[in-house]
This record gives sequence, C-alpha cells and structure tokens, in this order.
Amino acid sequence: MPALLEVRGISCRYERRAAVVDTSFTLEQGMVASLLGPSGCGKTTVLRAIAGFQALDAGSIHLSGHCIADRRGGLPPERRKLSMVFQDHALFPHLSVEKNVAAGLFARAAAETRDIVQSILEKVGLAGMNHRYPHELSGGQQQRVALARALAPSPQLLLMDEPFSNLDPDLREKLRQEVYGLLQDIGATCLLVTHDQQDAFTFGERVGVMRDGAIEQWDTAYRVYHEPATRFVADFIGEGVFIDGVVSAGNRIDTELASLRGAAGHPPGTRVKVLIRPDDIIHDDNSPRCATITQRAFRGENYLYTLALPSGAEILSLVPSHHNHAVGEDLGIVLDIDHLVVFPA
Ligand code: ATP
Repeated sequence: MPALLEVRGISCRYERRAAVVDTSFTLEQGMVASLLGPSGCGKTTVLRAIAGFQALDAGSIHLSGHCIADRRGGLPPERRKLSMVFQDHALFPHLSVEKNVAAGLFARAAAETRDIVQSILEKVGLAGMNHRYPHELSGGQQQRVALARALAPSPQLLLMDEPFSNLDPDLREKLRQEVYGLLQDIGATCLLVTHDQQDAFTFGERVGVMRDGAIEQWDTAYRVYHEPATRFVADFIGEGVFIDGVVSAGNRIDTELASLRGAAGHPPGTRVKVLIRPDDIIHDDNSPRCATITQRAFRGENYLYTLALPSGAEILSLVPSHHNHAVGEDLGIVLDIDHLVVFPA
C-alpha cells in the first residue's frame, strides 16, 4: 500500500532564489509529523507546495498514490482533499462559529451539514458556542474553530502552519496536547510546520529538521534528539555543547571531562566533537570532579548552570533548583551519558 503522502525530490524557487531543494519524505496514514527548522529554511514553502499554492520546479507530490503535483502543474488546491490551518486562524469575522465551520463543507444537504458541524464542534470542545462570532472568542477558542473547519470535510491530510504561535505559553502547551489527542482519536494524518521544538516533539511521530531548503533528518522525535544525524541537527535540537575529544584504543574517546566509551567507528587518533547535553551532567557534592559555575539561569524547578572546565571549555548542567549555588563556585559533577553523539572535528 502506498504511503498517504509522498514528497519526492521537490524543489521550489521564488524568482531566482531556491527556497526548497530536492526534498523528500513520506507520511503513512494516521501519522502526525512536523517540519521544524529556523526561520526562512523553507518549511512553509513545502506546506504550500503540498496544498497547491506553490509551483514545483522539480520533483512530485503524491497523495494516496495519485500524483497531485509535479513540475508541469497539479490539481487545484480545492481538489486535493486536504485542509490547512493557519497561524492567524483565518476565520470569517462576519460569520458565526457554526457558519465558519460549515464554510469548509460544500454541496451537502442542510441537515447533513448541521450534523457534521455539531459533531465536530463537540469534538473540539466548542459545543454550545455555535452562534458566537470570532471576536467573542479567546485565541484558543478561535484556533479550535479553525481546526473544526479544517476537519469538517474529513480531509485525507491536515496541514497546519504554526497553529499555536499566537498563543501564550500555558495555553499553547494545553492546546497542543488537546489537538494532538483529538487527531489521534480521529486517526487524522497531519503535517505541522513549526519553529518550536515542543510543538514538533508533541507532533513528533516523525520530525523533519530543515536547513537551507533541505531536510537534514526525517526521523522520530526521540531519534532527532538522541541520535542527531548531523551537527546542525544536534545544535538545533535541544540544548547542549560540543567538547573536543580524541579517539583512543578500545572504542574510547579521551576528553577533558573523562575517557568516554563509544567512538562510533572513528579510528584511533581521530579528533572529534562530542555532544554533551545538560542532563548528561549530574550535580554531586561528593564527586572529586568539579567545574566552575560561570552562569546560571533559574527555570523554576531547575537551574541551568553553565560550567567552565579547566581549559575554559563550557558545559551545561540541569540541576534541581534547591541546589542553589553562586557564580564562581566549583560544582561537583558526575557524568551520566547513556550513549555518545560524536562528529568528526
Ligand atoms: P518562517 O519560519 O520564518 O515562516 P519558513 O521556514 O517557513 O520560515 P519559507 O516561508 O518557506 O520559510 O521561506 C523560505 C525562503 O523563501 C526564505 O528565504 C524566504 O525569504 C523566501 N520566500 C518566502 N516567500 C517568498 C515570496 N513570496 N517571495 C520571495 N521569497 C520568498
């Protein structure tokens, strides 16, 4: 059975400037995935190409095994059986909630439209708000209406462009969990574009990390964090720093911190960079190994300490915030590194 969505080697440009370069990925039916990357890396352009708002220079896009776009053209957006949710909700201000949702349904009997609208409003937690207008709703409620409108026609694929970016952090966290749960319940296939890692991790059955128009890694959220394929992905995802090391015999890497196990096939003598995450460095007053606190950031339940090693190289450590130490103090540390992420220097 073909994947629901197949993006095969697509390239797009704006006038002479390439925005997306030879990008490929597939989405299986029922999968919820994200495209993540810095501003301007081409995420929205990929989404627009799938939706039918952006021409392809090369490659092709297939939905349920049918080609919907290639460099010669493609199906018009309204015939692609997909829906899109935008960052600004794009609701019709002069239409009530139920009319906004019904706007996504064409050529259906009035009773059928009413039933679909009612059922989807209940699913997104807006039952009873049918007659309100967008300006009478909170940002989160407006986003739910936009989601309801997109889901009402039962699209094969739901595309979301930064859907949570206009919400405050608490609501953002709550709504992303709720929306993810809803998409799981109804078995929707969804591709979300975001620059926010937490969005991407929640919608992270697959995460595509983009850079300069190309996908550097298309993988599970867990693997892009723990097994980044490139230094860019390692730098972009999560927090961490690279320290210098040299591969020694017995699959080990000698670093200033310790001799670490796991040289990832690099021959002895190779100079490498080893990724150290804040949760790899555990605070322990009894440890003979120390590093000097150069900065600290209070995060409520934790402090993120920046620690200098004797060479001046810095590492990070996430420590429960009742361990309250000052800049300039030496902090006892032990290493708790499950597996090494290593790149040639
Ligand atoms: P952001 O996270 O900031 O929305 P993005 O990753 O979604 O960024 P795109 O919007 O896809 O990036 O843009 C990719 C590149 O194409 C950028 O360099 C951008 O400046 C350029 N670009 C986007 N839209 C246009 C346009 N209409 N005309 C010309 N260049 C454009």
